[in-house]
Amino acid sequence: MEDYEKMLKKVQKDVPDEVSKSTRFKMPKFDSHIQGKKTFIKNFKNVADKLRRDPDHLMKYLAKECGVPAEMKNGRLLLKGKFRQRKLNKELKMYVNEYVLCKECGKPDTKFTTQKGVTYMRCESCGGRSPVKPIK
Ligand SMILES: [Zn+2]
Repeated sequence: MEDYEKMLKKVQKDVPDEVSKSTRFKMPKFDSHIQGKKTFIKNFKNVADKLRRDPDHLMKYLAKECGVPAEMKNGRLLLKGKFRQRKLNKELKMYVNEYVLCKECGKPDTKFTTQKGVTYMRCESCGGRSPVKPIK
């Protein structure tokens, strides 16, 4: 696991300064704990709000990536399986890359819009638009 962290750090270092500056995006983090055979994400709704995404969409994504059913209750998310916080935050990062950050300029100022049955992610900063991959 330590090697993996080193690798992550190295990858982050390789990102040119300009890119990380222009995104000025602070990645929210899940606060989770395992109880029995279940995992609770305490600040789930809060994270979805920060990303300005529908919690249902984020829930669908996590349930699919973790391969277990999920349920939302009082702003918390319950995953029916044991998952470490590090794994959940890794999934969150993938989600943000795919569904929050603009594909053109890398900023998080995006919104989902639907046109003729296709959902697009539209960027309020640069006007860029890209189709959103459906979660199946
Ligand atoms: Zn953009």
